Amino acid sequence: MMADDAASEEQDLSRLLIEERVFQPPADFEAAAVVQDPSVYERAEADPEAFWAEMAEQLDWYEKWDEVLRWDPPHAEWFVGGKLNACYNCVDRHVHNGRRNQAAIIWEGEPGERRTLTYWDLYQETNKLANALKTLGVEKGDRVAIYMPMIPELPIAMLACARIGAIHSVVFGGFSAEALRDRIVDAEAKVLITADGGYRRGQIIPLKHDADYALRQTPSIEHVIIVERGEFPLRIVQGRDHWYHRLLQEAEPYCEPEPMDAEDILYTLYTSGTTGQPKGIVHTTGGYMTGVLATLRWIFDLKQDDVYWCTADIGWVTGHSYIVYGPLAAGATMLMYEGAPNWPEWDRFWQIVEDHGVTVFYTAPTAIRAFMKWGTQYPQAHDLSSLRLLGTVGEPINPEAWMWYYEHIGGERCPIVDTWWQTETGMILLTTLPGIDYMRPSYAGRPFPGVSAEVLNDAGQPATSGYLAITRPWPAMLRTIYNEPERYVEQYWTKWDKATYFTSDGAKREDDGYFGLLGRVDDVLNVSGHRIGTMEVESALVDHKAVAEAAVVGIADEVKGQVIAAFVTVKEGNEPTAQLSQELQKHVVDKIGAIARPQSVAFAGDLPKTRSGKIMRRLLRDIAEGKVLGDITTLADASVVDELKRRYEEQE
Ligand code: ATP
Ligand code: MG
Repeated sequence: MMADDAASEEQDLSRLLIEERVFQPPADFEAAAVVQDPSVYERAEADPEAFWAEMAEQLDWYEKWDEVLRWDPPHAEWFVGGKLNACYNCVDRHVHNGRRNQAAIIWEGEPGERRTLTYWDLYQETNKLANALKTLGVEKGDRVAIYMPMIPELPIAMLACARIGAIHSVVFGGFSAEALRDRIVDAEAKVLITADGGYRRGQIIPLKHDADYALRQTPSIEHVIIVERGEFPLRIVQGRDHWYHRLLQEAEPYCEPEPMDAEDILYTLYTSGTTGQPKGIVHTTGGYMTGVLATLRWIFDLKQDDVYWCTADIGWVTGHSYIVYGPLAAGATMLMYEGAPNWPEWDRFWQIVEDHGVTVFYTAPTAIRAFMKWGTQYPQAHDLSSLRLLGTVGEPINPEAWMWYYEHIGGERCPIVDTWWQTETGMILLTTLPGIDYMRPSYAGRPFPGVSAEVLNDAGQPATSGYLAITRPWPAMLRTIYNEPERYVEQYWTKWDKATYFTSDGAKREDDGYFGLLGRVDDVLNVSGHRIGTMEVESALVDHKAVAEAAVVGIADEVKGQVIAAFVTVKEGNEPTAQLSQELQKHVVDKIGAIARPQSVAFAGDLPKTRSGKIMRRLLRDIAEGKVLGDITTLADASVVDELKRRYEEQE
């Protein structure tokens, strides 16, 4: 017994930082919450399939399913035999059920234009675009690539595809022509929907112009549809390129939605590429829609009079699930913003919250840390009292950033839901239900009702810290990797047995059942035989008052195996000095112990991030070890890496 314990102890990740602070939702929030009965957890656990079937009833189906789940590990089918249409569920049913004139999308362009689309507007545009796609020869099962800025035509394009059963592949508008080309080629897309351009930080992003480079090497593309966003320079190829507004003028007003099998593909989407080559994830219709609608309603506590704002770009899964399919299936009113948070001023987000009376706000730790860095004067200048619930997703949130969000944005009155999930999971899997669960900064929380998760060690035994595993299929789970069925099995279902999903994330679990994320398994540090997740060391650094953001990596050391190299950005008004660097090393030792002492602390203007805002530690490792940089196609800003390299070498 003892020997066993010691062995598993060695394999486990160390758990260094235990956050004891606990926050309760305010009484008035609890009293009005969508979910108020804590027994939902036990009820779902007693019969998960019955629970998910009940959640699926919130959708409109043409034909009901014969079987809730068919599980042939690692292949799942949900709601087998059921038929539905995702677009019908997001648009038509609201038009028929009293929400026809309700705002679906309140949009603000970066230069300041505003548009409001009701569900009726969405219905009309979606129907016409669906007919236009058909006229161009798009059929059920065909792939359509979408490369657009954050304008209402982007969700409309996705819904139009869903309406006719075409599979969309959205490529984030900030990606290069090469990334677009690769994704079009992988999907063999027949049509590309794009725009003449968009705005970001006052600059024009000439999307169609960039797309033309990709289109030289995409033989599958027969037609291109271009939304006219502004007056951007572009070239039209006769016969291939079509203006969106012209097509819509000529299109029939109604298009019958295609009844889709629950397991028909709704879309493919690539992961962010934080750890390497992005993977083309496949999501199907019935289970996905069930999962996103249930989680949206329960976790974001969405009600009729809410103004919901998720700041993600629709080019990422957060946008697919929690801007498009979840909120629209729920008949919500959402805000959509095209541009940067600091344009034209550093308070643009707070101006938007104040102007539109945003009530539910969902963003990423990378944004929160940027707000912290800029200073509290920007949110303070605005009336944020409409906010009642905050959310975060994308990376572990350091306790300091959590507290800042809670105090300065939420006014200590808004619960925060820290939502853990992945492109692969399709829906949120770990979080708190804001009306019944307390919050613990930096702990995502518990598995959503009906979801089963564990922290396992290498041997597959439960551990207090180790790897996060999902131990039961869930409706919105990926079905495969596009064109790579073996990689699907290999990547996710071979770490233990083929019914246990490997997330690639390290996690710890506390006595109250709360899960805390420790960072990527690929990034784990190994110091003198101790395996340490990046999250806790970084949180100790961010805990220092001068620090805005931190990333740590392990670099090879002859004696210790690895030593820790830290990269830090400071808050406005702080100087990166040698003294501060020593102070930070000491701060980490004081917070969590000598084992985690960074051997070096390098200051940076910014850290290398993916285009979705996640820190790319693998590039920092390459820099610290003086290696040639790995795959940088998903890197947001290459100049950040050049600067870091220079500074790091100077410091050496
Ligand atoms: P790739 O798989 O290509 O490396 P990626 O993992 O960054 O890219 P996404 O699917 O966008 O692609 O990100 C999912 C990951 O983001 C999770 O595996 C986890 O590491 C991190 N993450 C998301 N939400 C949270 C959260 N609330 N807390 C901690 N980590 C989170
Ligand atoms: Mg991933």
